[in-house]
Amino acid sequence: MTAHAAVCGDVAVLVPAAGMGVRLGPGGPKALRLLGGEPLLVHAVRRLALAPSVGCIVVAAPADAVPFVEEMLAPVAPVTVVAGGATRQASVAAALAVVPVEFDIVLVHDAARALTPPELVESVAEAVRGGHGAVIPVLPVVDTIKRVSDSGVVVDTVERSSLRAVQTPQGFRRDVLVKAHEAAVDEHTDDAGLAERIGVAVQTVPGAEAAMKITRPFDLAVASLLL
Ligand code: C5P
Repeated sequence: MTAHAAVCGDVAVLVPAAGMGVRLGPGGPKALRLLGGEPLLVHAVRRLALAPSVGCIVVAAPADAVPFVEEMLAPVAPVTVVAGGATRQASVAAALAVVPVEFDIVLVHDAARALTPPELVESVAEAVRGGHGAVIPVLPVVDTIKRVSDSGVVVDTVERSSLRAVQTPQGFRRDVLVKAHEAAVDEHTDDAGLAERIGVAVQTVPGAEAAMKITRPFDLAVASLLL
């Protein structure tokens, strides 16, 4: 299967949305939880489709929900839905496998970052277009960060000035993302981690507060206020 082009841009976006969202409490796959009456995935895809660079969207949904997700997203944007895998990495790989050959830039965007502004998608895409093989949006870390032992005792305080919190969409030259996934031997929580592992320089761009990850019930409450 090959995905069909969505809008008119030169960028394909993969949306891993097959997680169960255990940390959000009971209630089904996280991407299908409601925010302001609509599933998180609908919010996320709608904002992606508003970014002029985006020409193809591939969603990795829970395997048993593929037809349901196809129907749900049909009025939102032209998307291709594939069955996700057991891990986020496997879900991204499944989506990457169906991106049409003409797309040289591929972004990976978590459905859980449902309120990500289209401007952030554009800025990541622009940085890849400008010559970076891998690009991630980041925010400065505001809390003091400490390393703590298993017994709860502080081991040390981590110097904060060089730390960044990483968001999505993460952008890649397609060949970089393909190589990074082919070379993967262990699980990473993001795709830039796989690119780092094969020696690719990962460029940062400023992130956006609204691209917050909706993981816990508190995040859902904050997101409804933002909405
Ligand atoms: O679990 P976590 O919050 O890190 O998941 C990040 C994103 O990866 C979510 O959008 C989730 O739906 C997706 N995911 C996936 N397949 C999995 C696990 C997570 O697509 N097996």
